[in-house]
Amino acid sequence: MKTQINVKEKLGLDTIKIHEEKHISVDQMVCKSCKGRYCLHVCPAQVYTLNKENLVVLDLDGCLECGTCLIACTPKSISWEYPRGGFGVQFKCG
Ligand code: SF4
Ligand code: SF4
Repeated sequence: MKTQINVKEKLGLDTIKIHEEKHISVDQMVCKSCKGRYCLHVCPAQVYTLNKENLVVLDLDGCLECGTCLIACTPKSISWEYPRGGFGVQFKCG
């Protein structure tokens, strides 16, 4: 019988190699006036959170490079690019 695993366990099988250069950044001035805070809700890896000062902070260690945050951020605060070659996420399929 096939063993079933949940999404979090599946994501845990992926490998992410971090480069010191951050591949995503936000413009805090734009974020400050953002009412929707869409990034907090759409990112499957919960890369975006708010700190005590209510500023958006990013923990890129889990980024799956799906690009959802870039599309969802209608105030256009996000600068996004793929990580340098050889870095970033490696998906384990199956
Ligand atoms: S959705 Fe965009 S503008 Fe709004 S808080 Fe997130 S990154 Fe900033
Ligand atoms: S690209 Fe996807 S996984 Fe990475 S921060 Fe944006 S929404 Fe999250």
